[in-house]
Amino acid sequence: MSMNEESVALHQYLNSVIINIPYGIITLTRELEISMINSRAVYLLGFKDEEPSDFVDTDYEHIFSATEELLEKFKTEILSSKERKFDFNNYSFHNKVLNIKCRTTLYGTLFIIEDYTQQALIEEELQHRADYDTLTNLLNRSQLEKRVEKIRERNSENNLECAVAFMDLDKFKPVNDIAGHKAGDALLQNVAKIMQNAIRDRDTLARVGGDEFVILLENCPLSRAVSIVEKIRKEIDEYNFIWKEHTFSIGISAGIAILSSKQKSVQEAINIADQACLIAKQEGRNRIHIADENLVENIEHKREVSWINVINKALKDDDFLLYKQEIHDLKSENNIAHYELLLRLKDKEGKILSPAAFMPSAERYELMNKIDKWVVATAFKSLNEETHYSINLSGQTLSTPDFSEFLIELEKKYKINPKQITFEITESMAIKFLKNTRLMTDTLQKRGYNFSLDDFGTGLSSYEYLKKMPVAYLKIDGFFTKEIVKDKVSYAMVKSINEIGHVMGIKTIAEFVENREILEKLKEIGVDYAQGYHLHKPEALSL
Ligand code: GH3
Ligand code: MG
Repeated sequence: MSMNEESVALHQYLNSVIINIPYGIITLTRELEISMINSRAVYLLGFKDEEPSDFVDTDYEHIFSATEELLEKFKTEILSSKERKFDFNNYSFHNKVLNIKCRTTLYGTLFIIEDYTQQALIEEELQHRADYDTLTNLLNRSQLEKRVEKIRERNSENNLECAVAFMDLDKFKPVNDIAGHKAGDALLQNVAKIMQNAIRDRDTLARVGGDEFVILLENCPLSRAVSIVEKIRKEIDEYNFIWKEHTFSIGISAGIAILSSKQKSVQEAINIADQACLIAKQEGRNRIHIADENLVENIEHKREVSWINVINKALKDDDFLLYKQEIHDLKSENNIAHYELLLRLKDKEGKILSPAAFMPSAERYELMNKIDKWVVATAFKSLNEETHYSINLSGQTLSTPDFSEFLIELEKKYKINPKQITFEITESMAIKFLKNTRLMTDTLQKRGYNFSLDDFGTGLSSYEYLKKMPVAYLKIDGFFTKEIVKDKVSYAMVKSINEIGHVMGIKTIAEFVENREILEKLKEIGVDYAQGYHLHKPEALSL
């Protein structure tokens, strides 16, 4: 073979390599004309109908006319600054991700263009898997720690309080054991959703272990953190997980710690919350324990006393108090003052405690039934003709058949007109005890008592269920009311609950009316009643 024949053969060989290689290849002469180009390069650089031959021997600018950034890079890196090479990676172009290598030699310039799209997706997916828990799609522990570190830096500059809550499901293993791992997984996903719905936008939720979750509450005082976690605890407590023929009720135990600059590491803050969670488990599960170093005065003392004794004593000695908060009629000016009665407990030092402090214990020791009876008896004693009372009833009372009898006796004793009484039951409790609730509501309604569904909108029920429950009032969950001015979804929720209520002949009540703007929105929607600090702060009921 002559030299010439040899170089022609080599050229053909190179050409076939370039045609078949899975990269886009372009070579330029020193005069910046295209000497070789394959169809992959033509395609990757955005040309559909053109052939490689359309570009051979043309000026380089044409082939880069769609990929302006690449053209610009070539001009600045190679032509202006006389560099020998550059890499241009992760270049997004026409829904593709390209990695481009450019090399210049004595003979000209070589471009190698790689379609990196699939690989970029895979890398993104791998990164996601490294940061998120695949089952619940929540952050995992390592990513949470990174996030906490950042937030701590930001908040310590501004001196904002942050809290960490550590939560572990109670009695989760039996779900796996009885219904299988798949059921356990589904339950974990549902629990994650409940938690996600209860937290604020700025909070971060992570799954850090099998049935362990952590929430980071940014810019959140302890009291707020407690109320958010309490909401989760309550919802999970009231939630029934149904899997084939099985129904499970679970709970969560939670520990809360304040993330302070005192702790050396984030891990330490999470550990403190974890320890507090363990104490919550030891104290009987389905409860919240606040980490010792955050204990506000008296909590130490409270931890020692046994709630069962405190509650029993309170029932005996009237340490319970009733407060009242007006349910303001937005539509008419009648003479009847409508109040919701709110339970409080006076502790040894005379401090007034809200139900969040003692209700979990009361429920656990099945004392709610007794407490409800105390509330009803006290309320009936103080009712006068110009007043209407809304009284909360617990799930335990709904499931106790003797309550109706007790009530009727009391009604006779105090000559009560049942029309002046509304019983509030939460949506979730009503569902949990559907059968008993219906029996009781039917009996009492015939006598003239009214019923109101509390916290409506957050439960799991459908409106279908409303048809079965003959209620007079729907109380829209304060969660929505509070956000009604800022959040379109909350506005829409309130509007739709209000409309459905009205179609069914049910009056609506909005709670948590904290300011005038909220009130205006409620009037605009046409809600019937409003309740909240803006209208009336709860005050002690005079007996
Ligand atoms: P306790 O009330 O003391 O918290 O007991 P528990 O039954 O909730 O059990 P514990 O918290 O000690 O253990 C959690 C169990 O969760 C252990 C493990 O079998 C199970 N688990 C861990 N990861 C997963 C998962 O991804 N899916 C399912 N289905 N189960 C898991
Ligand atoms: Mg557990």
